[in-house]
Amino acid sequence: MTIAYITHPDCLLHDMGDGHPEQPSRLRAIHDRLEESGLLARLEQHAAPLATDAQLRLAHPESYLRRLQACSPAAGSYPLDADTRMNPHSLAAARRAAGAAVLGVDLLLDGRARAAFCAVRPPGHHAERQRAMGFCLFSSIAIAALYALEHRGLQRVAIVDFDVHHGNGTEDVVAGDERILFCSTFQHPLYPYSGTGPAASNVINLPLPAGCDGAQFRAVVGEQCLPRLRAFAPELVLVSAGFDAHRADPLAGMALVADDFSWVTAQLAEQAALSAGGRVLSSLEGGYDLAALAESAQAHLEALLAADRSP
Ligand SMILES: [Zn+2]
Repeated sequence: MTIAYITHPDCLLHDMGDGHPEQPSRLRAIHDRLEESGLLARLEQHAAPLATDAQLRLAHPESYLRRLQACSPAAGSYPLDADTRMNPHSLAAARRAAGAAVLGVDLLLDGRARAAFCAVRPPGHHAERQRAMGFCLFSSIAIAALYALEHRGLQRVAIVDFDVHHGNGTEDVVAGDERILFCSTFQHPLYPYSGTGPAASNVINLPLPAGCDGAQFRAVVGEQCLPRLRAFAPELVLVSAGFDAHRADPLAGMALVADDFSWVTAQLAEQAALSAGGRVLSSLEGGYDLAALAESAQAHLEALLAADRSP
């Protein structure tokens, strides 16, 4: 079965200004690398639809949607927080990012793809129910989880977030919802400086020290995330795929390499094969060194393709 690659040109139009690390060229770097390597031709490309208001309301109250709409500028840019800005295209890009994840759920549950990767921006895992922050507007991966539960009849969905930053937004949306198991590995201390206090029983926060390398990362994931995932037996595995724990990343200080992203992806695909019919939906979060981002995304997709070939 195929691996879907979901993206949209609107995601290139969201621009927070020259020098901002969360820049349109991130998606171009991934696309170019996949094209040059021949990988893109092995993926089934889909255009991300705009998430509907009803889909966004799975994670965000109506008042938040209205507030974002009111902030959306006709020209120039509007600051949502110290490092998150909206230009006239940002809202559409964020709707495409959430819509990509919803489409991915449909493709997987309709049997039209075995796995899917959403090459989208802005990212989503810092967006809380009522607050845009950390380059994020909508909690795309949580919306996908809730869509699968509320509208596609699933009972258990896992979200694994290996971005170097804590997925505070995802946690804010899903904490206490026992239908969802959320596991986030992240460097601590680091933005957004959350994830180390008491957490709901469906949340596994795994802070890692600066300098953490692949061996340490694999040990923590292997001991504290994968056994919980296996016991939970998710019917769908969602991934907040941030690649900023790479050692070349300028915003963080962990020391992973592309092979570590390949490893964790293979582990998640293995769990998906056991309990979820192999279904893995992955959405791009961070990753700010363009070469490392492209190489890591390629390793991630190659691991998904390799899992797809195994029986
Ligand atoms: Zn990040």
